[in-house]
Amino acid sequence: MRKFPEPIANLVAAFMYLPGVGPKTALRYVYSLLSLPKDQIKIFGKLIQELPESITICRQCLSHAQKELCEICASPNREKHLLCIVELSRDISTMEATQAFRGYYFVFGGTLNPLEGQTPQTLHLRQLLTHLETHPEIQEVILAFSPDVLGETTMMFLAKQLKALGKRVTRLARGLPTGASLEFADEITLGDAFKGRKEI
Ligand SMILES: [Zn+2]
Repeated sequence: MRKFPEPIANLVAAFMYLPGVGPKTALRYVYSLLSLPKDQIKIFGKLIQELPESITICRQCLSHAQKELCEICASPNREKHLLCIVELSRDISTMEATQAFRGYYFVFGGTLNPLEGQTPQTLHLRQLLTHLETHPEIQEVILAFSPDVLGETTMMFLAKQLKALGKRVTRLARGLPTGASLEFADEITLGDAFKGRKEI
């Protein structure tokens, strides 16, 4: 195994915390950074350093936001009877890009995966039920998870919980390829899947 100066080895190890980044990719990133002008490397470091202070969690939808309430939750101009549940914060921007949805969102925080320790207790089930209790105007809940095994399992679980509360529960139309990640769906396909949503 090649030896690298300690600061390089440490940064390689840090990059490997990111999904899909192995030692080779991490090393490429570090050397790419080193090829940049010093000022640019400093800006890069500063942006990362500021991230935990500049980003918080929206108290209503639990997405990443700059304020206590994200822009969507703070907006009075959205459809109050619609709530779209997504897996992660990043899925909100994917849904927003379709311009097909004008309701509010809720971030569930992942998919059910007991083998990885992701259970209703570690995800946001309790917060979701409280949110629905304090917002009785919500009539329809749209489950917008990726149509893969974990996404399907999570949607089935949530549908059961939410229907017991008397909510209309829908999911995106099957236009999305099975196993596909919402993250990589194009805006038109996702927009169509949204408009053609089906009751569970
Ligand atoms: Zn919010």
